[in-house]
This record gives sequence, structure tokens and C-alpha cells, in this order.
Amino acid sequence: MEAKPKVFGHLLKEVVRANLCAGCAACVVSCDPGVLAFENEPKIKGKCTSCGTCYSVCPQTPTEKNLLELPEGAQTDPSVGSFLEALSVRSLDEEVLKRCQDGGAVSTLLLSLLEEGYLDGALLMGVGEEPWRPRAMVARTREEVLSAAGTKYTRGPLFLPLREAVEKLSLQKVAVVGVPCQVRAVRKMQRGDLPYPKLGERIRLVVGLFCMESFHHEKLRDFLRERLGVSFEEVAKFDIKKGKFICRLRDGQSKEIEVKALHECVNPSCTLCTDFTSELADLSAGAVGSPLGRSTVLVRTARGREALEILRRSGKAEIKPLAEFKPGLEGVKKVAGAKRTGADKEREKRKAEGKPLPP
Ligand SMILES: Cc1cc2nc3c(=O)[nH]c(=O)nc-3n(C[C@H](O)[C@H](O)[C@H](O)COP(=O)(O)OP(=O)(O)OC[C@H]3O[C@@H](n4cnc5c(N)ncnc54)[C@H](O)[C@@H]3O)c2cc1C
Repeated sequence: MEAKPKVFGHLLKEVVRANLCAGCAACVVSCDPGVLAFENEPKIKGKCTSCGTCYSVCPQTPTEKNLLELPEGAQTDPSVGSFLEALSVRSLDEEVLKRCQDGGAVSTLLLSLLEEGYLDGALLMGVGEEPWRPRAMVARTREEVLSAAGTKYTRGPLFLPLREAVEKLSLQKVAVVGVPCQVRAVRKMQRGDLPYPKLGERIRLVVGLFCMESFHHEKLRDFLRERLGVSFEEVAKFDIKKGKFICRLRDGQSKEIEVKALHECVNPSCTLCTDFTSELADLSAGAVGSPLGRSTVLVRTARGREALEILRRSGKAEIKPLAEFKPGLEGVKKVAGAKRTGADKEREKRKAEGKPLPP
């Protein structure tokens, strides 16, 4: 007899109430009858059909299948996963450089792919009306891609606009840019055995970001106000470099604090995450490994390589082997290894304290 699928009740108990929800809203958009809503966390608003999709697409629940097929010729490293090429990229687009976080690799890649017709939209994290509050959006134009450039260090429900993008806008070739947990959710949406497979099928490219952790929006806002006297309104850009959390203010000044001091603002699910480089993405991008003003890019899959070729042909970015720079790949491996060790320690600590762990 086939085992009954785990359903929303299990998701609530094992993930949401255990304080392990990544807040991505993959469960909400994947719900075939549409009875889930996102109100800081997933909530049920109607009659559940017990299909189990919400549980199976959640990045925090287990999966039995191999989520990513490895291409031939990929190197595999225990701390950064598999990749075909390690590169360091700097955009040559002045407008991107003014708005991006590091080398503008992500925004320039998206712009080239939209221009070429390889994509017809990209699911990105922009900001809403409230300063620095992340708001997911579907970008189809240059201006929209530019408006989402730059890192928001707090998290938001990335997948919320995906259903509308697929059903109302009829987009066929969508890129998703996200942090490792969000990338994992995409791969779970793409497994093909779901009652509503359309979302996963329409995702053509997954761009993963390196990510040590993300912060709780209100906690970070209050912390920066109390400890640094900085309000979100004053900040032009946030950055994390060399262990410092830096607020670059609109008046040209900057204020900083050790990242470690922010530990109480870290989202609890991040403390157990072992993936720094978004190992399941087609391409991953981050700052670590490259000098200031460049993005490290790991090309992982055949699709990732196809997309990178389009960027190369566009001439819109300077693309060099990461091996030409210090600390290069060794730097990425070091940070990735530290994240894994930290997560293992946290897991042991939680076990000893009898606290819930991801299922
Ligand atoms: C929460 C978080 C933590 C990170 N931590 C690290 C780190 O520890 N080390 C490191 O090397 N790199 C980290 N990064 C990645 C880094 O900040 C840059 O995103 C990356 O270097 C690409 O830079 P870029 O100039 O090419 O991107 P850009 O051209 O500026 O594009 C950035 C893209 O990131 C997306 N984005 C922004 N904020 C979010 C968010 N909150 N959730 C999902 N997507 C988002 C936007 O949609 C945009 O398309 C982190 C990113 C995030 C979001």
C-alpha cells in the first residue's frame, strides 16, 4: 500500500511551528486548489485536498530524488558542489554598475538573456514602498531588472508572483534569482510528479546567490537603529565585506558593525543551512573569491553554460577565469566550509537541547 503523502498539517508542525520556515512561499504558489495564503508564514484559508504538494516543494522538507543532474565534465567539491567553470565577472554596463551589489554579473546576464529572447521574464527580489522591505517581482524590461539590482539582506516571499507570471502573463521562459533555500524550492517544483507542474516547467534558468545567512527584517531595522543610530530610510546600500556589516548612507558616510553582532537578527532556518553557494543552481554568483567590484560566477549545468555564452557574445561583461584572482576558488571553499561547520554545530546543539530539526 502506498504511504499517504504528508500534507499541510505536517508542514505546519515540522517546519512552520518549528521555526524553520524559509519564508519563500513556494508552498503557497504551488497549492493546486489555491487554498494557501502568505501572511508572514503560510496559512490555510480553504479546504485542503491533501495532495501533499505544499509539503513536497518546501525547501526544508526531505526529498528522495536527486534534484540536479550533473553534466559531463563537472568538477565536484564537497564544500561548493559541482561546477563546470569558475569565473570572475564585471559588467561593462554603466547603469548596472551604479546599482548592482558587486560586479553586476546577475543583472547583466538577465539583461542579455531578455534581449536575446532566451527569457521572457525573471522572478527577482525588488523593494516595496517601505524602505528595504524585499518585494518579489517579475521583471520583463531593462528598467525592472535594474530596479531589483543590489542585495537586500532580509528575506521575502520570492515565489508569490510566479503563478500570476505563468497564468496571467503567460510567461514561458522565466529565470529565478534566489538564495540557496529558494533554489532548492525551484528544483523541488521541477520534479515533474506534482499535480500542478506548470510552475516548474516554465522556469528556464535558476541563478543562485552565495548566502551565509539572511536577517529578519524588523529585527535588523530595530538593531541598526539602536546600535548604530541608522534608519533604513538613510541607507543607500548594505554590504557585507570582511566580516563587517556595512551601511552606506545616502549622505556619503558609512557605518559598520561586526556581522557576528547581528546573530540575534539571523533567520533561524539559516543557522541550519549547509549550502553557501546555491549548489543546485544553473549558475551561482557571489562576492567571495573575487576582488571588490567583481562577481564570482560558478557555471554548473548545461543551461548555465548556454546562458553564460549569451552573456559572453553580448560583449556586455568582462569575463575572466576566477583562477586569475585571489583568493579565488580557495576563498569560496573556505567560506562554504565554515558555513557547513557552523550548521553542523548548530544541529548538534539543537539535538542536545531537544529543539526541532528539519525533518
Ligand atoms: C541574503 C543574501 C546574503 C548574501 N550573502 C553573501 C555572502 O555571505 N557572501 C557572498 O559572497 N555573497 C553573498 N550574497 C550575494 C551577493 O550579495 C550578490 O547578490 C552577488 O555577489 C551578486 O552580485 P551582482 O552584483 O552580480 O548582483 P546584482 O546585479 O546586484 O543582482 C542582484 C540580484 O539579487 C537578487 N536579490 C537581492 N536581494 C535578494 C534577496 N533578499 N533574496 C533573493 N534575491 C535577492 C535581486 O533580484 C537581483 O537580481 C548574498 C545575497 C543575499 C540576497
